[in-house]
Amino acid sequence: MSTSAPVRSLLETVTVSAEEGRAVPDAATRETIGYAPVHTVADLEAAIAAARAAQPAWEALGHAERSRLLHAIADDVEANAEELATLLSREQGKPLDGPNARFEVGACAVWLRSAADTALEPEVVFEAGDSRAVVEWDALGVVGAIGPWNWPMMITVWQVAPSLRMGNTVVVKPSEYTPLSVLALVEVANRHLPPGVLAVVSGDREVGAAIAAHPDLDKIMFTGSTATGRRIVEASAHNLARLTLELGGNDAGVVLPDVDVAAIAENLFWGIFINTGQTCAALKRLYVHESRYDEVVDALAGLAEAMPMGNGLAGGNVLGPLQNEAQLAIVTELVEDARARGARIVTGGEPAPELGPLFYRATVVADIEDGAALVDREQFGPAIPVIRYADLDDAIARANASEQGLGASVWGSDAEQTLAVARRLRAGTVWINGHGGLNPQVPFGGIKASGYGQEFGAAGLRAVAAPKVISR
Ligand code: NAD
Repeated sequence: MSTSAPVRSLLETVTVSAEEGRAVPDAATRETIGYAPVHTVADLEAAIAAARAAQPAWEALGHAERSRLLHAIADDVEANAEELATLLSREQGKPLDGPNARFEVGACAVWLRSAADTALEPEVVFEAGDSRAVVEWDALGVVGAIGPWNWPMMITVWQVAPSLRMGNTVVVKPSEYTPLSVLALVEVANRHLPPGVLAVVSGDREVGAAIAAHPDLDKIMFTGSTATGRRIVEASAHNLARLTLELGGNDAGVVLPDVDVAAIAENLFWGIFINTGQTCAALKRLYVHESRYDEVVDALAGLAEAMPMGNGLAGGNVLGPLQNEAQLAIVTELVEDARARGARIVTGGEPAPELGPLFYRATVVADIEDGAALVDREQFGPAIPVIRYADLDDAIARANASEQGLGASVWGSDAEQTLAVARRLRAGTVWINGHGGLNPQVPFGGIKASGYGQEFGAAGLRAVAAPKVISR
């Protein structure tokens, strides 16, 4: 007879009792999957105090040891990948298959390893005779990381991995919609980290606001909506915390007349519908030259109808539900407004209640113009407006007219022309014949109301480090 205790799943480990916690629903079925702790501002104070106390020793460990630990966390994420992906799929709604839950967990390991393997070398910025000035990079101190619900595990890693790598300690506040995924990820990380270095405070918006205003935090990494981003900037006037703000997007794509529709169609589809449209840097407004308009609309509609949508745990599904009721209401409102204005719903344009309460069919809307809410506002869901253009200068002007500036893309066959258009589009990243592809070594961030600061690679490490000039 074995005397060892039964192995508890990650979900069992992070969930609390029904009396102590808040029920978290399965995004597809709405059944309760577990109870998330409801941490308070007092819990936040304790976590920040512990992170402050742990920080000097963590920084003193040195880069090599911290890198080793980040790799150990990545190994453990990979060893628990299926369990993490299953929890993520249930809580967030994204299917296991396609560029979704397994993909997200895989990306967590990739970004952890990339942060571990990137270094900021001291930089000699001036040298003359015996004089010399060198920029070196210290830790900032304690980082507060506030995240959204659309890619909860991956975005937590984007915020945490570079922060830890540079010797900071971190307090994470997941979205109230997806706490369990982040708690499970941090549980795996904390098998390897000293106490106090990484804490998660699972609270609501008030806890987020308390992080943003906290006098003992040195940096806030925030990913979420532009409206919340503005509140965080206001709070930073008091604590002067450094900010990285990854905010909303309303990315435009411009399709040129010489495009090879068959060759780009699938990339175009996933640039729009990745994570069922709930992606910051997804393509959200598509401008297509009139000579190719019908062909592009038909290709997108064909793919939208062919891609399996349903419960994320069922193999083969690649599109899932909206994550929450509020987001379903936004998508519905924007599509209904388009319909009322006389736009053509080519496919979709309605919920799919037979799949579950929060499913909405992949939707392509044609014969729509700028000024319609579906074009001007971020839909953050599976509904794409396709706008006809005749004049390229006009299309570029309309693409650039948004207050947002996260990503943009241009689609065509001529390398010189696509590059020339890319240079005229105003966004943090412009993709050519793709949209939304990210690389852990390539800086990523928005302009205009999409925020400021860059993540990933050396730029991402600098954003969580204190530059220090040593001059002699
Ligand atoms: P949200 O702004 O509602 O919430 C994000 C987080 O902020 C949550 O954890 C929330 O609890 C917290 N929060 C709320 N009020 C706060 C306050 N006053 N102070 C501090 N924190 C507070 O965003 P969301 O709905 O979870 O996410 C969707 C949005 O995020 C979309 O606009 C999307 O484009 C954007 N997003 C951007 C990126 C990017 O990299 N640029 C990535 C993912 C999502």
